[in-house]
Amino acid sequence: MIKKILVANRGDIAVRIIRTCKELNIKTVAIYSKADSECLHRYLADESICIGPNNISKSYNNIDNIIYLALKLECDAIHPGFGFLSENHEFARKCEENNIIFIGPSKKQMVLMSDKSRARETVISLGIKVVPGSDGVLKNKEEAFEVANKIGYPVIIKASNGGGGKGMRIVYTQDELFSNFDIASSESLASFGSSDLYMEKFIENPRHIEVQVFGDRFSNAIHLGGRDCSMQRKNQKVLEESLSNYLSEEEKNNLYKSAVNIVKGTNYIGAGTIEFIVDKHKNFYFIEMNTRIQVEHPVTEMITGIDLIKLQILIADNKPIPFTQKEIVFKGHAIECRINAEIPEEEFKPCPGEITSLNIPGGFGTRFDTFVYCGYTIPPLYDSMIGKLICWSESREECIKKINRALDEIIIEGVRTNIDFQKSLINSEAFLEDRHYTKFIENEFLGNKQIATTI
Ligand code: ADP
Ligand code: ADP
Ligand code: MG
Repeated sequence: MIKKILVANRGDIAVRIIRTCKELNIKTVAIYSKADSECLHRYLADESICIGPNNISKSYNNIDNIIYLALKLECDAIHPGFGFLSENHEFARKCEENNIIFIGPSKKQMVLMSDKSRARETVISLGIKVVPGSDGVLKNKEEAFEVANKIGYPVIIKASNGGGGKGMRIVYTQDELFSNFDIASSESLASFGSSDLYMEKFIENPRHIEVQVFGDRFSNAIHLGGRDCSMQRKNQKVLEESLSNYLSEEEKNNLYKSAVNIVKGTNYIGAGTIEFIVDKHKNFYFIEMNTRIQVEHPVTEMITGIDLIKLQILIADNKPIPFTQKEIVFKGHAIECRINAEIPEEEFKPCPGEITSLNIPGGFGTRFDTFVYCGYTIPPLYDSMIGKLICWSESREECIKKINRALDEIIIEGVRTNIDFQKSLINSEAFLEDRHYTKFIENEFLGNKQIATTI
């Protein structure tokens, strides 16, 4: 039985994990960098230890220090959250070697799925459609030309180890491919520790639709429905919602079936997200699997009533998933807005600083996951996301009304935020009519709209 968990993360996800642990009577250890000494997660945990200086590689990504601490404080398990070490197979391996449960898949499964070009090969072998592209890693520029000529321009060159919307380049011509290949390769090495690149056809104006999946050690594989994350800026999600009527019931079921087949075919254990892009003809193509909990997991929690962190811990503790696929009921609609400390009018420049006044919205079907409080100073070193507003209602239409009401209630003073930007997005015609797509913000929205200013 897991009795004590070290939470190897910060911010809203560290708080989220600690909350569930408390409800399960599991003790928690928080780690924090010097800059995070006032962070909420350290106050909520049973114990908290400064893991190192501000630099990520010396603190939240310091594998040896984290393992040492987990052993010293007799933790049975480590929850990696998202970002940081959550998809680092070396970390998973070291946990396994030291008899610490890594709350996530095994090292082997992670190697198979978290490297994006290898994941492509794996799902192709399972008969699932991927975006047309290279068979695996591109060996050299000549192979890149060959593949691009075969699939047709424009193409995307992607870093195999990329993530967070980074490490991708759209290329329209052979000349562009020629001049971008080496730069992309060295950038990938510098940012992600590997120069490996692969190629995909650039799909014009797709939707991003993903499926939440879980597998356990008893060969159970389930899905918890889909999330539409088509509202993006620079390939990063801005707001997410549970699946609407954009896809028919039959199309949704085909998508779910493919996602569950990937879990079964890889004997995957734990929480995962299978990401697809869907073209205008409603063809869906696998793009990647995230072998961890996702930022937007609350949307799924709201429509299923299932605590996904609790399920992760249960599976890591060698228990079977306590319900069958048939017992999962999807109810209503949920939308999440990512709230960032940033200035939309200045190219979304991060805006760290002290929060001098704060009002968090509430009411039926309203949830705000955050780690900030009045008087807290957001350090300039980490992600600019400071919270997530999640609303649930019976239908998409009702949910839009509710999230408008909740966005109106939030007060965050002292720093600039994207709250007004989110409001105008939610009320854009394209979103209301459910016809937005992944490049909507860049191609249409920012060009035409006057963004209201916050504060
Ligand atoms: P999602 O938002 O769907 O959960 P993201 O890919 O946006 O997934 O990643 C979640 C978090 O992890 C974000 O804070 C993102 O910046 C970070 N992240 C993900 N992959 C990487 C990576 N390879 N390098 C750096 N940060 C990453
Ligand atoms: P990351 O690991 O950074 O999350 P993904 O491969 O999941 O990278 O892609 C992130 C986003 O980039 C997608 O949601 C989509 O908007 C865009 N994208 C990725 N691949 C393609 C493609 N082949 N065609 C068009 N857009 C793409
Ligand atoms: Mg992705």
